[in-house]
Amino acid sequence: MKNTKEKNEYLKKYRQEERNKENRRKASRKWQRNHTAKIRPMCFKAYSGDPPKCMCCGETTMEFLSLDHINGGGKHHRKAINKVGNGFYDWVVKNNFPEGLQVLCHNCNLAKGFYGECPHKKQSEL
Ligand SMILES: [Zn+2]
Ligand SMILES: [Zn+2]
Repeated sequence: MKNTKEKNEYLKKYRQEERNKENRRKASRKWQRNHTAKIRPMCFKAYSGDPPKCMCCGETTMEFLSLDHINGGGKHHRKAINKVGNGFYDWVVKNNFPEGLQVLCHNCNLAKGFYGECPHKKQSEL
């Protein structure tokens, strides 16, 4: 009888603890999202001015923008420093906005990765 009661108490505590953990996880995810939402524009502004825009096509919609390594090697570099998700932006801020980065929209960034340079560039050369 006593034993069951103790067990129940323990289980109750255990579940409570699990709930607390889950809440903390949620809170930290929320914090991380807020944090990223704050430092992303900061990084973009540091590299392209205010309002931030794609160096190639002039796209200004924040959600389309990303930081690009001017001389490539982004994947490798990111892999080395990017522990989780948006750690890259943290790294940029911590390293005082190092040279060699530029703001590109996802279109231009991907195109540069696929074709070596963005088709926008060819258009402007014609
Ligand atoms: Zn662009
Ligand atoms: Zn482009």
